[in-house]
Amino acid sequence: MEAPDFVALAQPGIRALRAYDPGLDLVALRRADAAGVLVELGSNENSHGPSPAARAAILDSLHALHRYPDPLGGDLKRALAARHGVDVARIALGNGSHELLMMLAQVFAGPGLDVVASRYGFAVYALAAQAAGATLQLAAPLPAGDPMARGHDLQALRAAIGPASRLVYLANPNNPTGTWFPTAALEAFLASVPPGVIVVVDEAYLEYATDPALVSAVSLLDRFPNLVVTRTFSKGYALAALRVGYLLAAPGLVAVLERVRESFNVNGPGLAACEAALADADHLAWVRAKNAAEREALQDALRARALAVSPSQTNFLLVDFGRDAAAIEAGLVARGVVPRPMGGYGLPTCLRITVGTRDENRRFLQALDEVLA
Ligand SMILES: *Cc1c(COP(=O)(O)O)cnc(C)c1O
Repeated sequence: MEAPDFVALAQPGIRALRAYDPGLDLVALRRADAAGVLVELGSNENSHGPSPAARAAILDSLHALHRYPDPLGGDLKRALAARHGVDVARIALGNGSHELLMMLAQVFAGPGLDVVASRYGFAVYALAAQAAGATLQLAAPLPAGDPMARGHDLQALRAAIGPASRLVYLANPNNPTGTWFPTAALEAFLASVPPGVIVVVDEAYLEYATDPALVSAVSLLDRFPNLVVTRTFSKGYALAALRVGYLLAAPGLVAVLERVRESFNVNGPGLAACEAALADADHLAWVRAKNAAEREALQDALRARALAVSPSQTNFLLVDFGRDAAAIEAGLVARGVVPRPMGGYGLPTCLRITVGTRDENRRFLQALDEVLA
């Protein structure tokens, strides 16, 4: 029997969808890297590693591998509530924040409705909008010449919001640009948005921020019931393998999301490790300081090579080579350094480089010098 045309059978939003592109094939690259010296700077992972307390909590959780985890994630939620000074009813846990970003569109977007995002934003926003069958409205970024060029233009985002808009996704700081806007600017933006439009502020990189003008939007939740803040344990907490993220929002919004949440969407070792990681404030502060120092050093080193580097409050740098970067990317990979190609983001002259350890950054620069020579 001939297989049916499964694409034609799929829902309209899915037909036009392309699966999330995770970048270069790391499994194949690692297999080919017999010496084990691959420098992986493609996925904004935290090279400094998680809190030792998180590792200990995972080991401790293994006695219960045959049990389902707490379906409510109660202990972790209470720890998060205490950390952020909010009620537990404001928190939802996700299998990574990716899952929560998808759920938000599943619940609030749909055919005939708009989802608004910036031209250079996280690829998952477009995926979420399309999968829900909604129309993605892309707002122009800040123009060349602006210090935060290619970052979010909050005025353009506001102008892109229309009567059919239900959701706005914006990351602060932003991926893939690394740029940010002050929390005061977000406050003014939120005040201008109609209450029926849900504004999702993705703070995946907030743990890395060192600019005092950039603080979490969590402080604005009381004033703006249409605000959703998403966070993750994948970046600053260095627990990407566990897939744990969370969001903070109005209790009513959380309650509606809970209707579509998969039962047991967060695994037991993940719940235990994140609770332990959250309690280790010293480790997080160490990571932040270490990353900030390396970020600045790497930025300086790249600019000293006359390369255009976007300002960043994250653990990565967007580097513009002013010409198609595919050959540079290939040259780096051939030398065992893995960057993130940006063609899929519409930035073919750029590469996104995770800020690694001092040694990783040194090896990246050495490979880059060879490639550019
Ligand atoms: C890495 C990242 C996330 C985190 O995804 P998880 O699913 O929590 O691992 C979310 N948003 C942005 C912008 C990111 O870069």
